[in-house]
Amino acid sequence: MVKEEKEDSSLFDELMAKNILVSTDKNYLILFKNISISMYGARAWAFTLQQIALKKGEKYIFDLGYLMGKDSAEEVNETFKKLGVFLSKEIKKITSIIEATGFGITEITSYIPKKRVELKIIKNPILEFGKELYGEKSDICLFYAGVYSGFISNFLDLKDCKLAIKECISKGDKNCSFYYEK
Ligand SMILES: [Zn+2]
Repeated sequence: MVKEEKEDSSLFDELMAKNILVSTDKNYLILFKNISISMYGARAWAFTLQQIALKKGEKYIFDLGYLMGKDSAEEVNETFKKLGVFLSKEIKKITSIIEATGFGITEITSYIPKKRVELKIIKNPILEFGKELYGEKSDICLFYAGVYSGFISNFLDLKDCKLAIKECISKGDKNCSFYYEK
């Protein structure tokens, strides 16, 4: 066991020495001076989601996102229930849950229970790769419109929320944002 760890760290040292892996600060590593190594998953996700959208269409990629958002929300609900924690329908909690489940940093910018909601993305590396790889042809936002709709339908007082895209970084806007109004 000890021997393996030693071999791993020497490979790591070798990559560092050859400048293939570069540390920019304490907790950030850059591969080939270009892509943060922690972002490789995000790039692969961007590629995969775009391929699904191209092959299956806009409704399919939205519905897939909705299914994932709904499933994650239900999973969180079950876990809290087991712990005896009651989740109130607060907008701050929903964005914390979205972030904790790995669907990016978001902000609810407007919310009227049973009537209207608006959500803005602050940080989502997969969407940023989508913009970089596909420009305005990126369909990845449709997936996230579905994901966040799934969360909102579960956690806010807005059943069957189906978010539409309002702004998108791929179209040149500053942030991606979504809205839904009954
Ligand atoms: Zn977008």
